Amino acid sequence: MPNCDMCGKGVGVLKRAKIEGAALDVCDSCAEKGEIIRTPYSARRGSRRSVQPAREVKVIEDEVVAGYGKIIHNARKRHEWDVKKLSEVLHAKESLMHKIEAGKIKPDLSFAHKIEHALGVKLVEKVEDDGDEVRSDSTRSGGMTLADFIKVKKVKK
Ligand SMILES: [Zn+2]
Repeated sequence: MPNCDMCGKGVGVLKRAKIEGAALDVCDSCAEKGEIIRTPYSARRGSRRSVQPAREVKVIEDEVVAGYGKIIHNARKRHEWDVKKLSEVLHAKESLMHKIEAGKIKPDLSFAHKIEHALGVKLVEKVEDDGDEVRSDSTRSGGMTLADFIKVKKVKK
């Protein structure tokens, strides 16, 4: 327990006060004799922080939008590109682009950003994730994922 610089009393909460020209960490009654600079060890603030549950913090996450396939397909048509051209621009497999447009494979965030830049579309949205339940939808892809495709491509090189 810290002690008051003035009277030596042991107190839980010390205040920093300017007393007779010196900055001292003192107890409440001694602080009244001087000018309080700040309260460095506020018990009120400390307890409030420890009570705050971590679960209340909402995580803002980037998510690929649900209709990504259609968005990519329409944007590609606007550019008058065929799938081959798009896959060349993105340095991706043509078969992968077919599957993404068909909505069979969801691009991961970094690849979605690449597509966004290539086609000038919006594929990634910020979503609030306030629990574990929300996750299930995005993780339930099953089968081959984009990561697998990229792995295969790198191995073949
Ligand atoms: Zn004191």
